[in-house]
Amino acid sequence: MQRVFSGVQPTGDIHIGNYLGAMRQFVKLQNDYSCLFCIVDLHALTVPQDPETLRKKSIELAGLYLAIGLDPKKVIIFVQSHVPEHPELAWLLQCMTYFGELSRMTQFKDKSKGKETVSVGLFTYPDLMAADILLYDTNFVPVGNDQKQHLELTRDIAIRFNNRFGETFVVPEPMILKTGSRIMSLTEPDKKMSKSSENQYSKINLLDEPSQIKKKIMRAVTDSENVIRYDPENKPGLSNLLTLYSSFTDISIEEAEARFKGQGYGTLKKELADVIVERLSEIQNNYKNLDLNYINEILKEGAEKASSIAKVTIERVKDKMGLLPIK
Ligand code: ATP
Ligand code: MG
Repeated sequence: MQRVFSGVQPTGDIHIGNYLGAMRQFVKLQNDYSCLFCIVDLHALTVPQDPETLRKKSIELAGLYLAIGLDPKKVIIFVQSHVPEHPELAWLLQCMTYFGELSRMTQFKDKSKGKETVSVGLFTYPDLMAADILLYDTNFVPVGNDQKQHLELTRDIAIRFNNRFGETFVVPEPMILKTGSRIMSLTEPDKKMSKSSENQYSKINLLDEPSQIKKKIMRAVTDSENVIRYDPENKPGLSNLLTLYSSFTDISIEEAEARFKGQGYGTLKKELADVIVERLSEIQNNYKNLDLNYINEILKEGAEKASSIAKVTIERVKDKMGLLPIK
């Protein structure tokens, strides 16, 4: 069976962009691939985190993985810091990555812009991500569009390593959806929806109350033309709402456009809020019924299973690079 790996950072509240761009795909893939889904807490440390909140958010994300429909009998769900081979491989890969390559990464540029201090970890983040993926001989990585550049770098590093030391890594392919891979902010539709945005109105979180969801959709920035037409360049806010409607109802953008043709923005917003409330309430009900001990058990099992794969890969890599084994 081919392998799928992906991760989400336990930073802030998980939003519908994370869900539509990445997590919903995980659920669909679990039946046909050997899947690992990670709570990438080491990535979270690249920007300052409150320790208690980080722990709480890691458990919350594990709960959400289960609540959206991941079946721990079929997939491995685990916490990145439980498997020390991730940072270990990241170091080895850092020594194979060029400063210029990391300097070109747009996520680093975006996240460091305007900051007084920036951690080295934020700069080398793509190497840790490459390690996450390459450790498991991953064939496919379902991610949002914003991670495309990091995936390309991962492929370059894998190919470079294989050329230099002989076949070692599987070269992974991204899985990026045509619709939903870049959900935009509700308040600044030229930016992607992000957990790290401080404006609560910019994003809808998976655990938001129905009244919050409605308020956020009604407040979403559109334009003054009042014509329903999908045109991301000239009408980014409205086009984002059509994308959301299409993704949540599993119809094409054209069908969504046709459905609301000739109607006001208010009608689209109201119907969109209803479909989001309905879908998220299913997830929220599943989430409410989860027990902390159960989640901890899943994570423990997940760490054991992930470790057993990671240990084999790291030994192979260290051997290729000339590191001396204990005799
Ligand atoms: P942060 O602001 O902390 O980076 P984030 O919202 O970007 O948070 P991540 O944990 O970095 O979330 O990403 C988890 C997954 O969600 C990745 O696959 C990423 O590509 C995807 N993703 C993030 N934002 C969006 C979005 N707006 N639309 C679609 N997919 C997204
Ligand atoms: Mg991100």
